[in-house]
Amino acid sequence: MGVRDVFADAVSLALPPRCPGCGAVVRGDHNFCAACWDSLDLLGAPWCATCCAPFEVDRGPEAQCGACLAKPPAHAGARAAVAYGPVAKTVALRLKYGGRLAFATTAARLMARHMPSDATLLVPVPLHRWRLWSRGYNQAALIADALSTTSGVAHDPLLLRRTKRTPALRGMNPRQRREAVRAAFTVERRIEERHVVLVDDVYTSGATADACTRALLKAGAGKVTILCWARVVDVTSD
Ligand SMILES: [Zn+2]
Ligand SMILES: [Zn+2]
Repeated sequence: MGVRDVFADAVSLALPPRCPGCGAVVRGDHNFCAACWDSLDLLGAPWCATCCAPFEVDRGPEAQCGACLAKPPAHAGARAAVAYGPVAKTVALRLKYGGRLAFATTAARLMARHMPSDATLLVPVPLHRWRLWSRGYNQAALIADALSTTSGVAHDPLLLRRTKRTPALRGMNPRQRREAVRAAFTVERRIEERHVVLVDDVYTSGATADACTRALLKAGAGKVTILCWARVVDVTSD
């Protein structure tokens, strides 16, 4: 037994596993209690073949949503483990601002089933270096690292950089959001990886992910799929 195992044992004796959603004592690490688990809206098909926006009714594997029919996105799908709701939000906020770094693994465990089978490289959405300095870690990089451990797909947290400080996008309209993140990202080297998976915690309007996707494609990526913990879902009938 290594030092790490002894330490892990000591920690698990001292702290019983707790539900990441509500803090109730649960059976094992990264397990949700029954109530939180029931309230999580796990995403999956039926969804838009192009962007993975969930559909209320199954229209077949090739069906596209109205937005993709009007203007196909640059990415090859924005997949998320869960819809953004109270429990998904708690996990995201505690990971991002509360220092609950183990929640990156909690998120990655539920995201793993949406990992594209031909993925060759995991790249997290980067923070600007000032924000990284003040927070001390990039939550998306922690999730990508956990996904890399479970999937065996390589992870490069330094490939994509945020070179421009961007304002909070909340409250902006789609055009303002696109403008705010335009030219905010650069890729450090040419990449020939065929299928890059861009990892983030929460997918809201897609403006940031879209700007990252464009930078990665410009640097030579064959295809970019977005993989997130939670996605804000507007259930529409289109
Ligand atoms: Zn719970
Ligand atoms: Zn779509």
